[in-house]
Amino acid sequence: MTTALLQIEDLRIAYGSVEAIKGISLCLNEGEIVTVLGANGAGKSTLLRAISGLNIPKSGRINHGAMLLNGMPAHEIMMRGISHSPEGRRVFATLTVEENLNLGAYLHRRQKERIRKSKERIFELFPILVKRRRQLSGTLSGGEQQMLAIGRALMSEPSILLLDEPSLGLSPIFVKLIFDIIEEINAQGVSILLVEQNARKALRVADRGYVIETGTITISGPASELSGNEKVQAAYLGGA
Ligand code: ATP
Repeated sequence: MTTALLQIEDLRIAYGSVEAIKGISLCLNEGEIVTVLGANGAGKSTLLRAISGLNIPKSGRINHGAMLLNGMPAHEIMMRGISHSPEGRRVFATLTVEENLNLGAYLHRRQKERIRKSKERIFELFPILVKRRRQLSGTLSGGEQQMLAIGRALMSEPSILLLDEPSLGLSPIFVKLIFDIIEEINAQGVSILLVEQNARKALRVADRGYVIETGTITISGPASELSGNEKVQAAYLGGA
């Protein structure tokens, strides 16, 4: 049996007395893009935050290979190669683009040459950031901030990237660009767990997908199967 890169079993997460994740099991295999779809408030961000150590599960297991991640501090999870680009492009507005990228490489802060190479790679993926490298991040457009947020997450050289709503609020040109880049990052060997509201685009790039409804997985399968699923079509693909 092959071991999944990331294996989540019967995960439960509560905010006070309200259970936001109610016994979710899912996996991400090496090389995959797996998308998690669901309406607002379904629990998608809560799930990603638990994987990166920002939410503490009530019960269940999150495994990275043989290693149990539950209860591990966020920086140790990052050191294991799991990086999170959170919803809402949380860049540091008063720092420049380059300073934001440097922060993403915090784990390698003493390895100047390594950081330089990582930055070079990010600038190749996002040429627009080269022009903006000395600009304050708060003055970037929404699409540029999203690229910076993804770029910063890549600076720690992750093997697993958790992407929360990367296309939210972006113009169609930026949406296309972001999804092209997601595929490119994946082709470079990064496995990706992608939370998206743009189900059509997400299912186009993903290998497999899960649908979360109020904290429970209701549908899962290969992306092509989900695209053809009547319920998915009605709820997430605009009845197409
Ligand atoms: P969206 O797409 O709107 O971000 P989501 O699927 O990512 O939605 P979550 O943000 O994970 O959903 O929220 C799941 C549920 O948990 C929601 O009912 C939300 O109100 C609740 N919740 C999230 N964060 C907290 C918190 N810090 N304290 C209390 N309740 C929370």
